This record gives sequence, C-alpha cells and structure tokens, in this order.
Amino acid sequence: QHLPVVVVGAGPAGLTVGAILRAAGLDCLVLETETREFIERRPRAGVIEEWAVRGLERRGLAANLLVRAELHTACEFRFDGKRYRFAYRELSGSHHWVYPQPLLVTDLVREYVDVRGGRIRFGVRDVRLHDLDGDRPSVSYLCPESGRREVVSCEFVAGCDGARGVTRTSVAAGRARVARHDYGIGWLALLAEAPPSADCVLFGCHPDGFAGQMPRSPGVTRYYLQCPPGDDPENWPHERVWAALRRRLGAAGAAPPVEGRLIEKRVLDMHDYVTEPMASGRLFLAGDAAHLVAPIAAKGLNLALHDAFLLGDSLAARLTAGDDSGLTGYSAECLRRVWDYQEFSQWLSELYHGSAAGDPFRAGTTLARLRRLFTSPTAAASFAEQYLGTAARY
Ligand code: FAD
Repeated sequence: QHLPVVVVGAGPAGLTVGAILRAAGLDCLVLETETREFIERRPRAGVIEEWAVRGLERRGLAANLLVRAELHTACEFRFDGKRYRFAYRELSGSHHWVYPQPLLVTDLVREYVDVRGGRIRFGVRDVRLHDLDGDRPSVSYLCPESGRREVVSCEFVAGCDGARGVTRTSVAAGRARVARHDYGIGWLALLAEAPPSADCVLFGCHPDGFAGQMPRSPGVTRYYLQCPPGDDPENWPHERVWAALRRRLGAAGAAPPVEGRLIEKRVLDMHDYVTEPMASGRLFLAGDAAHLVAPIAAKGLNLALHDAFLLGDSLAARLTAGDDSGLTGYSAECLRRVWDYQEFSQWLSELYHGSAAGDPFRAGTTLARLRRLFTSPTAAASFAEQYLGTAARY
C-alpha cells in the first residue's frame, strides 16, 4: 500500500491535517492507538482563540462549533480579596470561544471520515517509522485484529501523536534539540459536574496557591488548584477541594464556586518543551508531538491547530502543485508562535504563582504586576493581545 501521507495520531492536529488533505483530494491514513469512542470523550482543553476558529471555518471545519460554542469576552482576576474584571474584547476587539475538546474531536472525526471519506485505523499498536531520509518513507504498526505488522509506504509522515507519542523520538538524534522548562509546581486538574459560579474564566492569585475556574458547558466546569508537583490526587478528597476553591477564589461580592461531583481529578506536573526543528527528512511534527505548553494560558490546542493548518496546507501544495515552499518554511513559521506562547505562559505563571512562592519579595512584585493590568492601559492592551494570540504577525 502506498499513500501520499500517513498521519500518526487522531487528536485535533492529526484530524485537521487529514481533513485538509481530503479536501484537496489527497488520500491519507490516520493511525491511532485508542478507539473512536475514547478519543471522542477524552476531556482536555476548551478555550479556542478567535483566529483558530476562523482558520477552522475557512477549511470547512467549524460548522458545529460556530453554533454551539460559547463566546467569551472577559476574564476575572481575584486577588487581595477583591474581584478585577478584565474585559479583553473591549481592549482588543477579539474574543475566545469555549468549546470542549471532545466536541471538537467528534466534529473533526465526523468531517474527516464520514463526510470527506478519510480513513483511520483505531487501536493500532507499536507504531514505527522507517526510512524518513529517503523519498519513500514508511510507517508500520501492529494490526489490532490479526496482531500482524502492517507496513504502509508514503511520501510524507505527519507526526501528530501528542506528548506521549513515538514520532518525536524519530526526529534524527543530533539533528533536533529539545528545550525543556519545569515550573516546579503541580496543578490538580478537576472536572466538576456543576455549573460555573461566574460567566467567565476566573484566576485566583492567592497566598495559598493559584486556583482557576474555566467554564466548559452549562453542567460541567473545569477547575485547577496549585499543588506540590507529584502530589497524589487522593490527597484531595471532595471536602478539601471545595474548601480550597472557596478560599482561593473568594472575593468580596463573589458567589462561591458551585459544588458538584468531581468526575476528573489528576495532577499535572507543569512543564513545557519545544522540539527544534519540527521536521526531519520526510517527517513533520505538529501539536503536542512537537511542543508542550503547560495549560497556564490555555494555548496547547491553539498551537496544535496552528501547526495543523500550516502542515495540511503545505502538504496539499506540495502534493497537488509541486510547491515546496510551505514545507521548507514550516518549522520556522510554527516555532515563532510556539516561542511567543511559551514566553507568555512563563510570564503568566509568575502572575498566578508568585504570591504563593513563600518569598515576600516575589509576592510584592507579583502584586505589582497584577495591579498594573488594571491601572496601565498599555499593560492591559499588551496582556489582551497575548492572551488572545493576536499579537503582531508570526
Ligand atoms: P493530542 O490531543 O494528544 O492527540 C494525539 C493523539 O495521538 C491521541 O489521540 C493519542 O491517543 C494518539 N497517539 C499517542 N501515541 C500514539 C502512537 N504511538 N501511535 C498512534 N497514535 C498515538 N489547550 C488549550 O489550548 N486550551 C485549554 O484550555 C487546554 N486545557 C488543557 C487541560 C488539560 C488538563 C490538558 C492535559 C491539556 C490542555 N490543553 C489545553 C492542551 C491540549 O489539550 C493539547 O495541546 C491538544 O490536545 C494537542 O493536540 P494534539 O492533536 O497535538 O495531541
């Protein structure tokens, strides 16, 4: 079997690349280790930037999202016992969309498979990449039904298999550099069966640690609580979680968080990494396979979509018109936005966590940084631009 492209991983990045290729009349195969049911339910991100929604829309991938997603125009910081609403649309003219990742993945699978006739092999095992430096690379995997190794040869491989995938390790040793940053903190990531207590994203910057609330849908809300890295989620029973959320998000005149059953509870060790370059021979990485950004600024899904738009369009141009320019510049173009978002996440991390660092000096500078957002229009405009990903041209 010989195909123009094999895509490894059916997350937002891989499915978007596949859908773009199908729209260009190109054949491809997506390989995925999980089942369709599993990927359509896996809860993760929810905040999508406006430029990313427009990018999906231009490629015919946003019909459901535009009907069902919630539009967010402001967020709220809570510190020093007070509420500070930050109306970013007024400052930037741009907004966020809140659309749970499982819904986006469900839409993308349906569009790629059911509408555009694309193929996915679910449940594959032990994916391996071969001959990436030649003209005819190939990808092999263990077939779930027969247990036999199947081999597919292709022109290009798109490595979209996320943070725990295999394609990143195939970027030839010595040719790529992986830069990593550890924040030295953990976040307890929670999903509660409860409506949000406010109509927008909340950031609680408290001496006990950060707390965040991200509305997901009328009946489900995501919360985050800063905790020690490597902490055991079992150390956080229901009562402790809700007491910490009430305390860290507490502010004069604010409704307390609405309690509900916790349906997800896991500890994220906050770190970032970037693989440079994002390509080697005939392999091109996209999304978390190439770079991870801790969920501090809700940027990961947005970066995955940015890569996927560029990669899908570049592969289509190369395979339909022999135009190599997109693929040649692919890594550098992705990395400009990646580094910009990484820098913003680091900056924001200090805003969230500085008050709880146990260092009065950092607590003082963090409070000054927070206050500046609400006293300096220039600082506010700069924050809005970065938070919404509209800063300059990448
Ligand atoms: P993934 O979604 O990880 O998809 C990779 C796919 O590859 C998966 O389906 C996986 O099963 C499959 N796979 C893995 N290994 C293999 C293999 N060897 N062979 C074949 N397939 C394989 N981002 C935001 O922008 N906003 C947010 O609000 C936000 N919140 C988040 C909250 C949490 C708790 C977490 C964990 C992440 C959050 N993110 C957020 C990040 C976002 O979810 C990811 O950046 C996004 O899923 C990346 O998409 P992807 O397609 O690159 O990778």
